[in-house]
Amino acid sequence: MKYLAEFQNPELARGLLDDIRAAVTRPWALMEVCGGQTHTIIRQGIDQLLPDGVELIHGPGCPVCVTPLEVIDKALAIAARPGVIFCSFGDMLRVPGTDRDLFRVRSEGGDVRVVYSPLDALRIATENPDREVVFFGIGFETTAPPNAMAVHQARKRGIRNFSMLVSHVRVPPAIDAVMGSPDCRVQGFLAAGHVCSVMGTSEYPELAARHRVPIVVTGFEPLDILEGIRRVVRQLERGEHTVDNAYPRAVRPEGNPAARAMLSDVFEVTDRAWRGIGTIPLSGWRLSPRYREHDAEHRFDVVDIATREPAACRSGEVLQGLLKPNQCEAFGTDCTPRSPLGATMVSSEGACAAYYLYRRLGTPTTPLEASSVV
Ligand code: SF4
Repeated sequence: MKYLAEFQNPELARGLLDDIRAAVTRPWALMEVCGGQTHTIIRQGIDQLLPDGVELIHGPGCPVCVTPLEVIDKALAIAARPGVIFCSFGDMLRVPGTDRDLFRVRSEGGDVRVVYSPLDALRIATENPDREVVFFGIGFETTAPPNAMAVHQARKRGIRNFSMLVSHVRVPPAIDAVMGSPDCRVQGFLAAGHVCSVMGTSEYPELAARHRVPIVVTGFEPLDILEGIRRVVRQLERGEHTVDNAYPRAVRPEGNPAARAMLSDVFEVTDRAWRGIGTIPLSGWRLSPRYREHDAEHRFDVVDIATREPAACRSGEVLQGLLKPNQCEAFGTDCTPRSPLGATMVSSEGACAAYYLYRRLGTPTTPLEASSVV
């Protein structure tokens, strides 16, 4: 398949690995921001092929994983109300809230439907004018534009029974928060290429300069990942810290102007809580006042949410790159994809799910082993 198979070529992969080996003179810790990149890395064993001392730390870029428990609980409360049709992408249905998930709400009589686009939810709203239709709008800069478009269309077409429960997050403030953590070991970033295809790269030079870290915009196929690593390592070895685009077939510096204009129209930047991490200033979007009538939190006034995370789940540390999934005591025992304790075991982009799916089941037993497990 064009643009896919040629970025999986084993010969070229070996060449890139040779280049990385030749360049490395000392240990480096790199963070891949996106959960899609984490899955490529673990599925292909890229982390195990890298030279000793080059460590990949898995970042917080899994949208399902970082949606805060309070928002999940609000979704559950809204979905359980009579007269509501609650629409969501499928991977949110198994994310555990404080005491149940959306599957449980559906089994108890709630009208919870899986859709493949927010516009499907809009169609359901037009077909059911006597019902309240709510779409669960979560994710990074990648899913935000179509969600913004759905709200924009609802307002324009006067579809008043459509609303959205919004929990959108933004990548650059998360990179800033990771670098601001006192425990941070990250020395360079593979930035998420699809996010930059929407937003461009203008937010990154200031971050790279202030934290003195190279940031390389990277794609998702094995050769993309290896090329991103090669460019980060090359900068680190030279003492450089600039923004570099290793994904030019999808990313332009200005991003997608039409998508950005839609985002600016519908959303406004706000502080946002990240599950397991806490509140990161200016790290999210909410509906702007012009669209308040389509804001599910405003419409349903869900209050008195008392959240409770499972004590055994260490997904907050996983999401900050402080812990590898198989270092969690519950990994593969009390917590599996069939009965997940945390969202990082549920999502198709979650690091815990990647380790479980691709059989990284060995648990480190000593600090030395633990630090070398990647
Ligand atoms: S393995 Fe399960 S319990 Fe442990 S951090 Fe991951 S999701 Fe949480």
